[in-house]
Amino acid sequence: MNYDNENIFAKIIKGEIPSEKILETDFILAFNDISPKAKIHVLVIPKGKYIDIYDFNKNASREEILGFWEGVNETIQKLKLEELGFQIKIHKGESGGQEVFHFHIHILSND
Ligand code: 5GP
Repeated sequence: MNYDNENIFAKIIKGEIPSEKILETDFILAFNDISPKAKIHVLVIPKGKYIDIYDFNKNASREEILGFWEGVNETIQKLKLEELGFQIKIHKGESGGQEVFHFHIHILSND
């Protein structure tokens, strides 16, 4: 599968469709999921064009990988979840339940 430049998250990065932004850095964008499955349901995506976690781990630069996980921690701080705790979900591929083919993680919390 090739990366589709017109996927929903690519359009959110380009500002072509709106999102409820939590945090933006040089490397990531964090925003509320449009259909939340918990009280807090935030998606964190890298700005680079990666289809899924395997593609990201294999092809992203060390700087992008570091910048991504630093962005995840900044998002956790912004949501004040560092003490309370949370769940992280990652879907990979259709049989893994992935619907949007731009790598993302879900941060979920009911606290
Ligand atoms: P996946 O199953 O691919 O891991 O999750 C995709 C997530 O993206 C779903 O939880 C879905 O609700 C969310 N989503 C789909 N379209 C949009 C959108 O246009 N805006 C936002 N904020 N979230 C979306």
